[in-house]
Amino acid sequence: MSIPKAELHLHIEGTLEPELAFALAERNGVTLPYASVDDLRAAQAFDDLQSFLDLYYACMAVLRTERDFEDLADAYLRRAAAQGVRHAEIFFDPQAHLSRGVGMGAVVDGLWRALSRSEETHGVSTRLIMCFLRDESAASAMETLELARPYLDRITGIGLDSAEVGHPPVKFREVYEAAAALGLRRVAHAGEEGPAAYITEALDVLGVERVDHGLRCMEDAALVERLVRERIPLTLCPLSNVRLRAVEALEEHPLPAMLDAGLMCTVNSDDPAYFGGYADDNFDAVRDHLGLGEDRLRELARNSFLASFLEDDEERRARYLAEVEAYEFPR
Ligand SMILES: [Zn+2]
Repeated sequence: MSIPKAELHLHIEGTLEPELAFALAERNGVTLPYASVDDLRAAQAFDDLQSFLDLYYACMAVLRTERDFEDLADAYLRRAAAQGVRHAEIFFDPQAHLSRGVGMGAVVDGLWRALSRSEETHGVSTRLIMCFLRDESAASAMETLELARPYLDRITGIGLDSAEVGHPPVKFREVYEAAAALGLRRVAHAGEEGPAAYITEALDVLGVERVDHGLRCMEDAALVERLVRERIPLTLCPLSNVRLRAVEALEEHPLPAMLDAGLMCTVNSDDPAYFGGYADDNFDAVRDHLGLGEDRLRELARNSFLASFLEDDEERRARYLAEVEAYEFPR
């Protein structure tokens, strides 16, 4: 089912497939703490967000040069295109690279080499969103924003990711204010493992326009009502939620209830190399396990373009939306 869709919650570092990790390890003379591709895949049985993050940061050690980031993004865009993705708003985590001595230039220039030719090569338009690691300090986030200044013509917005509990949105108030003053769009992970109150805080204190995950909003009826009223998009990642045990099983995912409540939901892959699937794999999963019919699937695809940061190219958005309406599901 390759319905045209936008992917709005995708960490480029989370698209590092084991095969590419080993190839880059060899190219860069880096030793991975796993004997083989199979060994690395076997290590992907996570207990929670933290156990995933430990493996995730270990694998990132192979990303050293501009060319590595270019190859990483190019591999993702090829896979995304094959899964019906027409537009991708891609997260990257500069602090995870700066801390290893890899500069902002290698990361952004490398990603940009793949992104700037993506339409021509893969038929996928792109935006870049720089995320701050919420388990790092607010001062570190501010330094990262400063380092990104020369590259802001390529960066559409900022986000907030990594370990959520104990790191409330308010910690990053100043850096979000600074980013807003620079004209950057604002999103943040909230309400994945953290409480619904973090979602409210991300809206009120950080001024986010879109909430990444946000599934725990369902614990707060007044918040749900507000999200519906203000048409705040939520970027849900069903396969990720199962792998990181935010939900016990896919069948228990709140997505159908969220759609019934009138929430503007989208479906995304988060860290597809680690969570068992790319964009369309997530669409297939919610169709097969949550019983979502064609109207709901089309609504999710439509929402993805409505929630995307295409305000500077409404003609393109209209074209994508027309593709969604014209899509015929396979019989
Ligand atoms: Zn995420």
